[in-house]
Amino acid sequence: MKQSAAGAVSARQPEHEVVIIGTGFAGIGAGIRLRQSGITAFVMLESADDLGGTWRDNHYPGIAVDIPSSTYSFSFEQNPSWSRVFAPGRELYAYANHCVDKYGLRPHLRFNTRVEKTVFDADNRLWEIHDQQGRVMTARFVVSATGYLTQPKNPDIAGIETFSRPILHTARWDHSLSLAGKRVAVIGTGATAVQLVPTIAPEVRQLHVFQRTPIWIFPKPDAEIPWVLKKLYERLPFTQGSARMATNISTELIMVLGVVYTKQMKPLIKTVEAICRQHLKNQVSDPETRRKLTPDYGFGCKRPSFSSDYLKTFNRSNVELVTEGIERITPTGVVTNDGQEREVDVLVCATGFKVFENGNTPTYKVYGVNGLELGQFWDEQRYQAYQGASVPDFPNYFTVMGPYATTGASWFAMIESQMAHIMRCITTARERRATWVEIRREVHDAYFAEIRERQLSTVFYNNHCAGSNSYYFDRHGDAPFLRPSSGLELWLRSRYFPIGNYRFA
Ligand code: NAP
Repeated sequence: MKQSAAGAVSARQPEHEVVIIGTGFAGIGAGIRLRQSGITAFVMLESADDLGGTWRDNHYPGIAVDIPSSTYSFSFEQNPSWSRVFAPGRELYAYANHCVDKYGLRPHLRFNTRVEKTVFDADNRLWEIHDQQGRVMTARFVVSATGYLTQPKNPDIAGIETFSRPILHTARWDHSLSLAGKRVAVIGTGATAVQLVPTIAPEVRQLHVFQRTPIWIFPKPDAEIPWVLKKLYERLPFTQGSARMATNISTELIMVLGVVYTKQMKPLIKTVEAICRQHLKNQVSDPETRRKLTPDYGFGCKRPSFSSDYLKTFNRSNVELVTEGIERITPTGVVTNDGQEREVDVLVCATGFKVFENGNTPTYKVYGVNGLELGQFWDEQRYQAYQGASVPDFPNYFTVMGPYATTGASWFAMIESQMAHIMRCITTARERRATWVEIRREVHDAYFAEIRERQLSTVFYNNHCAGSNSYYFDRHGDAPFLRPSSGLELWLRSRYFPIGNYRFA
């Protein structure tokens, strides 16, 4: 508060009504919803010099979606031009740009603005947003849309810093480096390696794939979309809507029944595992290689993938699956625990991202009421947020994808539901001329207790996850990625939760 010369106390006014942090699809979805609600006094902050999040950063060879594109897009902005059932990454990046232009978001973008911390000014009921260059802006509301999979994780293998030849992380691919005719090592066999390995195998001289934990692979029914179908989608959008509905329902059934209600639906997950095993048998001829590629933990404990060409790549004479642990990296190669050194020209780390750990979720400090810091609170007291969106003591602050936020078939359906929740809070605050919106502690705590109870039915507690090495688990042994509910329930609860669950002042 400021005291004027006349003695009147004037509240500090925020520069922006809303600040969105992040310009991946979550941030873009947030911006679209704000504009559609008639709110234009907002900015979208981005640490990089371009938008697109995951699809800007990840452009390694072979990148594509592994959920059908009709589902992996906004419900209100279907794209009739996808080239394939599972579109390549560059089309997703183009789609992000298309959405930004079509919905008038470009003037709101602020690039090269890496948020370092946000601090709640309780006296004036606004957030200060500090960036790394020391600039400060203020907003009544913050919508955090920084995603989970953004900070590349390099493997902590002895000697890696001594490797004297090119080393790449898949999330920072360098296309000026040709792999043709080279000896290449890929460390990691997650969903990224599943796409990369079959794409580069035909061009490299030798490929060593270092696997620590095998991944469950489901067949991927990919195909080019014929031009007639694209024309049909363009002329009669409801036809694409129907395709979306069909893929939504099938993915939702596997996801919800198999993963959320595993305890009650064990036979379903066992059927999925049987399909994957048969797929492996169809694709890999050598029984020993098959054995090595067979996971010994249950399907769903860690992120499975979809591919019809990854497994059969191990039939190639220039591809070696290495399951012996890595002891160290030398200036010229990789030494395994049995003492064998494989000399390589390029080292590729397909080793994923930092996920649920302090400093990553969120990627900046958030100081709420009384200076409580959100990352530290979550790290010490377990990840938690009312419907993945809000936390007591952090008024006017919302996360699009907070703890226990993701479920159902479509990432985009989740963004839309989370935004429905957040928009109800912001528009109600506007109607009531409220400047403080905070989830009531008792509602939040009851919700978290419900989540923890429901978690016990999920795949994480019912399908031999011990050996899975899964990033879904945090240091407390919780799995705060998955919302243990159906996508339908998420849809309903986002739109119809009692608005009195929040305190408006
Ligand atoms: P990831 O799933 O975390 O996999 C990382 C891999 O690196 C694992 O195989 C891991 O082994 C291995 N690894 C890590 N550190 C290692 C070390 N020190 N020594 C040996 N191996 C090590 O990462 P990702 O494959 O990049 O995928 C991340 C996520 O991105 C996916 O789960 C998915 O959500 C998303 N993604 C989506 C798509 C899509 O099409 N939509 C495509 C790619 C990725 P352990 O398993 O033993 O830890």
